[in-house]
Amino acid sequence: MDCIFCKIIAGQIPSDVVYKDDKVIAFRDISPMAPVHLLIVPRQHIVSLNDVAEAQVTLVGHIVHVAKLLAKQQGIAEKGYRVVINCGRDGGQAVQHLHVHLLGGRELVNGLG
Ligand code: 5GP
Ligand code: ZN
Repeated sequence: MDCIFCKIIAGQIPSDVVYKDDKVIAFRDISPMAPVHLLIVPRQHIVSLNDVAEAQVTLVGHIVHVAKLLAKQQGIAEKGYRVVINCGRDGGQAVQHLHVHLLGGRELVNGLG
């Protein structure tokens, strides 16, 4: 499958991995929008939030929980951070493998676009 995040998960494309478990991995965004910009990605190829089945809700909860843990690990929990899921064309989703952005380390003033 020609999916860049599946290739990162398989180790076929290098990335700066900061966390991994049996369900997800997290790595630094190649084009960071903030001093801390991580992507938390399920190992399973799910195209977008639109494609999350009810049975996968626990997985999405786990991803958000990992975002919280990583915010603490990266030292941005106290000052605050933003967790974002882009979905589809109008949502600005460029990579068609579900992922959660964790952004922080500066004041994010530009609202929700
Ligand atoms: P989206 O716009 O789909 O929500 O976000 C995709 C993100 O993936 C972008 O912020 C982009 O910089 C990042 N990205 C795209 N290709 C790569 C890559 O090969 N490696 C890493 N680490 N990040 C990538
Ligand atoms: Zn994929």
